Amino acid sequence: TLPFSLFVKAVEQAPVAISITDKKANILYINQAFTDVTGYNAAEILGKNESELSDKSTPRQIYYDLWHTISRKQVWHGQLINRQKMGQRYLADLTIAPMFDDRGAISHYIGMHRDVTQAH
Ligand code: FAD
Repeated sequence: TLPFSLFVKAVEQAPVAISITDKKANILYINQAFTDVTGYNAAEILGKNESELSDKSTPRQIYYDLWHTISRKQVWHGQLINRQKMGQRYLADLTIAPMFDDRGAISHYIGMHRDVTQAH
């Protein structure tokens, strides 16, 4: 079996922005690509809500759909307008998956996103 430290490195070095949150989307972990994409380092963003990334111009319906989907244990995929630490807007192609405890209840969420501004 692979050593545990290798799993940690895989997430840390994965070329997609990864964050792990609690059930209210408060950020508990970010990887290096998350810092590269958003401009926020761990000290600046841990403990804050993912809504910190929102440009506040995404239609409410999209967030409603996102929460409706993930709170029902489904994977959500879509695009949101985000804002980097320095203010630059970007289009985020985001997948959010629930994580489950031993009883099958949602314990956390994992978010994975890319800046796809250039693709549009
Ligand atoms: P909020 O007050 O957060 O909520 C907007 C609406 O969402 C509410 O009216 C409600 O219908 C619903 N809602 C909010 N919280 C809950 C909840 N706990 N349970 C059920 N319904 C709820 N947002 C981004 O803009 N950019 C991101 O990159 C991003 N990444 C995310 C990654 C993860 C892993 C998760 C779990 C969430 C992410 N979000 C992201 C969503 C974010 O948490 C906010 O819900 C969103 O940014 C809207 O924020 P708000 O303050 O405008 O509205």
